Amino acid sequence: MGDLSGKHGLIVGVANKRSIAWSVAQAASKAGARLALTYQGERLGENVRDLAGTLDGALVLPCDVSVDGDIASVYKKIEDEFGCLDFILHAAAFAPREALSEPFVQTERDAFRQALDVSAYSLVALARGGMSLMKRQGGGSILALTYLGSERVFPNYNVMGVAKAALESTVRYLASDLGPQNIRVNAISAGPIRTLAAAGISGFRNILQLYRERAPLRRNVDAAEVADAAIFLLGPKGRAVTAEVLVVDAGYRAMGM
Ligand code: NAP
Repeated sequence: MGDLSGKHGLIVGVANKRSIAWSVAQAASKAGARLALTYQGERLGENVRDLAGTLDGALVLPCDVSVDGDIASVYKKIEDEFGCLDFILHAAAFAPREALSEPFVQTERDAFRQALDVSAYSLVALARGGMSLMKRQGGGSILALTYLGSERVFPNYNVMGVAKAALESTVRYLASDLGPQNIRVNAISAGPIRTLAAAGISGFRNILQLYRERAPLRRNVDAAEVADAAIFLLGPKGRAVTAEVLVVDAGYRAMGM
């Protein structure tokens, strides 16, 4: 019997087996949860269906988090199939390619809007859509993934850093709104991990190397380590923690040089 035994969760942001969301899905399933996994666009659908096939009783649903109708369909399906919801993992982020390579000052209005919509506003939409299903359970836990680029400048992280700052603030405002219903809202700030999204950041390899050299633990973190922290925040052991950004980065954030 795991920590999430008998719980139902929604996992948003699995692209492939390297996705942080996939590590969380595996850990949550192992901890006893039944999951709904979403994917964006048929390009990824097959991949996600294959991965989900290895989990016990997982639902696989399409969802572009920038489309309100998609989010509504996901919750309708979850209501029909699960009848309730205990936790949500938000692990979706996007910025147009040029916004992650050209100087930040060149960021265009549309790129800014799209990055903030997909990477930050979507947490509000997902929380609002899921809150009534969580209330039926007497509460729940919502977790987003963020990065230190929200508060410090990393080359080429650019508008994604601005989006992550908005996401972290969104976590605190949602936590304040939803706390009285015993719904907790937190984020994990993960150290850099080689994934599909990370491949879009020019010079990502240098960021990985910097962490290996400077972090107190002198290494990078992996997605399974982020997933372990996620299970704590999603499950009953994190029951008094809300409005928090938990840093899982081998200690890098503490360093001045
Ligand atoms: P990933 O595997 O590429 O996952 C990102 C996911 O976001 C993909 O499944 C992507 O789908 C999805 N997504 C993008 N636009 C979407 C939309 N409109 N609707 C629904 N889904 C959408 O990369 P990851 O690194 O695991 O990223 C997961 C989260 O961790 C992100 O929030 C990321 O910023 C955060 N994070 C990552 C790192 C890192 O170093 N990797 C560090 C700290 C935080 P598509 O592939 O179709 O776009």
